[in-house]
Amino acid sequence: MAFDNQGGGFNRVMHTAGDADGCAGNWACSKCQTSIKELPFPPDPARLGQLLCKDCHRARKESFGGR
Ligand SMILES: [Zn+2]
Repeated sequence: MAFDNQGGGFNRVMHTAGDADGCAGNWACSKCQTSIKELPFPPDPARLGQLLCKDCHRARKESFGGR
């Protein structure tokens, strides 16, 4: 292994959808297309096309409850 990328420590952190907790990855919000790097829960593979970012998720919840 060659260390030819000295000084750039941060890019060693590579969370993927295959991480143990399954909550980190690279998805896109189905509503505003913002990129989602983390989720509060492991995503259901069947619903990867319907993911919402935190903002959209909260907005949706608020519009649901109403109180
Ligand atoms: Zn969004």
